Amino acid sequence: MLTIALSKGRILDDTLPLLAAAGIVPTENPDKSRKLIIPTTQADVRLLIVRATDVPTYVEHGAADLGVAGKDVLLEYGGQGLYEPLDLRIALCKLMTAGAVGAPEPKGRLRVATKFVNVAKRYYAEQGRQVDIIKLYGSMELAPLVGLADKIIDVVDTGNTLRANGLEAQELIAHISSRLIVNKASMKMQHARIQELIDTLREAVEARHPS
Ligand code: AMP
Repeated sequence: MLTIALSKGRILDDTLPLLAAAGIVPTENPDKSRKLIIPTTQADVRLLIVRATDVPTYVEHGAADLGVAGKDVLLEYGGQGLYEPLDLRIALCKLMTAGAVGAPEPKGRLRVATKFVNVAKRYYAEQGRQVDIIKLYGSMELAPLVGLADKIIDVVDTGNTLRANGLEAQELIAHISSRLIVNKASMKMQHARIQELIDTLREAVEARHPS
């Protein structure tokens, strides 16, 4: 059995056509189903529907053999325990700092609100900057508007959410896309099967989003 962990929404929508190219089609619509384990047209392949930030955990611990996770999630998770063999070139966005339009740089320590605490610590440590990191779980854009933080770190696609809240994107931290990740033991134990799937997905990615 091959188990593939992925999250609902953007990643699921963009991954299903790639899996279909490998002959893997869920037997029921994961967006509509309440089931968390979804069989596929290949009797020995199943999908696990999990939170985006939980995908690396399932794969690292071997509860799933493979997964699809955003590079933002992988940077935050710190993926030494995982293989990351393929950039799926889907769910593209940028990890950026953002602040209120025209706001001056604060004189004291910078206060940064984000759910990407580890990314933020690394980023400012590399710059030798002292910062206070404030962990939030969502609606980061609010933090600078109500004086909770000077800046945020978040993923930005069109920038519409930032603009709607009087914020502007500032520094680019990383270009983001979703990646196929593989459990290290699975890669050894089921090497031929997984390598074949990676090769088929690579062809499907190249056909849909040529480099
Ligand atoms: P935007 O198009 O910049 O207004 O993005 C809308 C919201 O979707 C933002 O608050 C982001 O947090 C989120 N978002 C955009 N692109 C992605 C992505 N590829 N992965 C995860 N979240 C995203």
